[in-house]
Amino acid sequence: MELEGKIVKGIAGFYYVNCLTETGEKLYECRAKGIFRNQGRKPLVGDEVEIKILDQEKKEGSIVSLFPRSCELIRPAVANVDQALVVFAAARPKPNLSLLDRFLVMMDQQSIDTIICFNKKDEASDKEIQRLSDIYSGCKSRVLFVSAKYQEGTEKLEEWLLGHTTTVAGPSGVGKSTLINLLVPDACMQTGAISQKIDRGRHTTRHSELFRIGEDSYLFDTPGFSSLELAGLSKEDLRHSFPEFREHEGRCRFQGCLHLMEPGCSVKEAVEESRISRERYESYALLFQGLQEKEKRRYS
Ligand code: ZN
Repeated sequence: MELEGKIVKGIAGFYYVNCLTETGEKLYECRAKGIFRNQGRKPLVGDEVEIKILDQEKKEGSIVSLFPRSCELIRPAVANVDQALVVFAAARPKPNLSLLDRFLVMMDQQSIDTIICFNKKDEASDKEIQRLSDIYSGCKSRVLFVSAKYQEGTEKLEEWLLGHTTTVAGPSGVGKSTLINLLVPDACMQTGAISQKIDRGRHTTRHSELFRIGEDSYLFDTPGFSSLELAGLSKEDLRHSFPEFREHEGRCRFQGCLHLMEPGCSVKEAVEESRISRERYESYALLFQGLQEKEKRRYS
């Protein structure tokens, strides 16, 4: 018998495939057929697959085919994700905006829209909220302030997540788990179903997992991060990942202006006139410098 499903977790060569059957959702533990390895293809969490049932009682199967992906993220490695949600605290801890900006660049590089969610709005002053809101008003990402603890502002978020597969990221200590538990009330049950199957001394912690939150809606929870390295990006390309700069492209005096030391720069003018957030611009300059140093190290 064959079934279609979605890979929700991958651990040590095993894939956990969630299948919607006539009698409800069922989770199968599967191996991937050797042909994928021969073809240089590796199933990813998020992949839509066809599985062959090997043991109905033990819920074991084998992945026999992979359906085409709509997209593939490299970091984190996940298939068919169409948007990202990045969670930071509005205060306590004070958000590390340089880290947030790096995340935005990383997603932009992979053509993924990002929702910026500032949690713990109950712990931030109106002034702090306004400041964050101003900084990110021109970045093209949707920005939302919520309090997972008091369940404030989360309806809007739920609305934005519906019908999408969203990768969720954020540093630790920002209340990401509280938010996930709110969005996926049966998260523990879904995790439990997998844990039961992998209760064989294999590593179970710190693995990314896909949660079903509704019809065609999934959340991909990834481990917390404290740093992000921009890989495969040249310093000259960095400016294209700052949406605020885009309308200025071609308006600077020099062609290929990097918006740094060049005179007659339309971006710098916009920063001076507060049409582009100074924090975002400084963040760009800092990231540029980081990439430049990295390149120097590579060639020295
Ligand atoms: Zn410029």
